[in-house]
Amino acid sequence: MRTSGIHHITSITRDAQKTVDFYAGILGLRLVKRTVNFDDPGTYHLYFGDHVGSPGTAVTFFPYPTSRKGTVGGGQVAYTVYAVPEGSLGFWQDRLKSFDVPFDIQERFGEKVLRFRDWDGLQNEIVERAEGPQSAWAFGGIPREHAIKGFGGALLYSTAPERTMETLEHVMGLDRKGEENGLVRYEAHGNIGNKIDVSVESHARGLGGHGTVHHIAWRAKDQDEQLAWRDHVAAAGFDPTPVRDRNYFTSIYFREHGGILFEIATDGPGFTRDEAVDSLGESLMLPSWYEPQREQIERILPEIHVRDLEGVGQ
Ligand code: ZN
Repeated sequence: MRTSGIHHITSITRDAQKTVDFYAGILGLRLVKRTVNFDDPGTYHLYFGDHVGSPGTAVTFFPYPTSRKGTVGGGQVAYTVYAVPEGSLGFWQDRLKSFDVPFDIQERFGEKVLRFRDWDGLQNEIVERAEGPQSAWAFGGIPREHAIKGFGGALLYSTAPERTMETLEHVMGLDRKGEENGLVRYEAHGNIGNKIDVSVESHARGLGGHGTVHHIAWRAKDQDEQLAWRDHVAAAGFDPTPVRDRNYFTSIYFREHGGILFEIATDGPGFTRDEAVDSLGESLMLPSWYEPQREQIERILPEIHVRDLEGVGQ
């Protein structure tokens, strides 16, 4: 079986409004869903992505005001990589500069990579890619021809890199493409969220908390394929969870041998399931089983606004 690439990546931050300001205000992603953490409904679960939060573009956050500071290390996605159209890296350098976001430029597998952190220390990168459709969403002074298309991929730190790489290749069905400067590159067959780099060094276990990635989800076409994935993962010796209803997709989870929490999520039904495309992300959406608690939940959650920060700076 072969996944076509990343479905979504979920990280931990501290402050809901600052998360919205960084990912919508500065990076120009669309807030496509404001809901709650289904396992902890006193906390937001914020989804950002392209205009509809297509699989391969969805970056999601649990803002926990009281969370400890995490440490990036083994068993985590160390860098979340965003893809922008070719010829856009200069635009993004200027943009990060205008918001006082420090960055540096790395060279990896023949590509220039813009590396920066968000306000919680979460490690991000931007890379130019010809593949993947141009974004249909433009916000905050970012023209579509420079807007983030979705994920370029991810860079993983593992406590057991050989085993993580074996799982990527022989369980998830990615192709090994090459090795350079202590990184091995794998590629999935999709055209977005498809390039996964693994550090060959064994990393000491990271500490979960704000500024770290919680898990990475891979794409399954539909629920039938997801059940086949579940059997496939179990046959490879893992212990996947039962299928869980995440309202916008269904999911299974398992921890790979290098400590990274993997999820396999269905492409559908998607974020337009309970809101029209035009008003995605504008209201707090709750799954039916939390609707009776709406008043209580709304009292706990802080108000958030998607703001155009152009000219404001931070
Ligand atoms: Zn997830």
